[in-house]
This record gives sequence, structure tokens and C-alpha cells, in this order.
Amino acid sequence: MKVGILALQGAFREHREVLDALGVEAIEVRTPEDLGAIDALILPGGESTTMSKLLDSSELRAPIADLLADGIPVFGTCAGMILLATEVLDGRRDQRSFGAIDIAVRRNGYGRQRDSFEAPLDVADLAGGPFPGVFIRAPLVESVGPGTVVMASHAGAPVLARSGLVWVSSFHPELSGDLRLHQRFLEEVIS
Ligand code: GLN
Repeated sequence: MKVGILALQGAFREHREVLDALGVEAIEVRTPEDLGAIDALILPGGESTTMSKLLDSSELRAPIADLLADGIPVFGTCAGMILLATEVLDGRRDQRSFGAIDIAVRRNGYGRQRDSFEAPLDVADLAGGPFPGVFIRAPLVESVGPGTVVMASHAGAPVLARSGLVWVSSFHPELSGDLRLHQRFLEEVIS
């Protein structure tokens, strides 16, 4: 299995380290050619407005939209969640998202950089105790559509959700030193 990580900006190296630790081949995606052989895709955290611009200048937006339409498994974390949402509140006007999962997210909905925080999260059906959630200028999920399943919440708001094999988290699982969420996602990709 090969897993692509969008590597235009943001925390892509940290996702790569998790995949390395799990023994999974990672492909850093910077050009449309890099998408050729991948079985799943990770959209990392970073700055969704910048990533949205770079998706256009790198000509990656259309081929990624095609892969998503074909149902490629994808995990979007933080800014990656914003890129996958159907509705982005408080986004820049020219910011565009793929609309791959039916959620409305508010950019920086937890506040500014100094409001970043960590919280233990109870994830549905995840053995081994709470997952350490690292939230950095995180998007706040304001609503989820009927096809979206919430896997974890914090202070009443969903923070981990899925629609089939489209997974999104408002926190950074790649920064927690805990491999379980990547592992679980990839187990489902294989099965
Ligand atoms: N606030 C960022 C954005 O709007 C997301 C932050 C993150 O990915 N850590 O894109």
C-alpha cells in the first residue's frame, strides 16, 4: 500500500514519520504525477488558505477532486479537514474546499494561536484509552450532515468524524506520538 501525503505546506513531514513508524510507504505529493500510484491520501494541517492557493498553482486541485469523486480513502487533519468540508465559515472569500464530507467548519473556531490546547479524547471503539488531541488554531465543527458519523467530540463539538473512508479531525493526530488513529484508518483502507 502506498499513501500519498499532500506536501505543499504544513505538517506533512510529521505524517510521514507516522507512516514510517507503521512501516507504510509514503509518497509526498507535490505534482499530479505523484498521485499516480497511491491507495490513500492524507491532507495535513497547516494553513488552509495557503494550501487552497497552492492546490491551484500546482495543478493538483482537479486530479485530487477526481480521486475523491472515485472514492479514494482520505484523512484530512486540521487544515486538511477544512479542505474536505462542504462548508467553510470564516474562510477567505477565495478559499475553496473539496466538499468530500458533509460538515460545516469554522476556521479558527477555537480562537487564536494562544488558544491552542491539548485534550484527551474518547474515540469510539478505539482500544487503549483516550487519544491525546493536539488542537492548534483548530477548525470548529459547527454541524454535520446525516451521512457523517462522529467518532469523537470535545466540549460538545465533533472533533473526529467520517463519511465512509473520508476521515477528518480538527486536531493533529500526527503530533501526538500516538499511532492508533493512522493505524485504524489504514486498517480500513486495506480491508
Ligand atoms: N487555522 C488553520 C487554517 O485555517 C488550520 C490550523 C492547523 O492546521 N493547525 O487553515
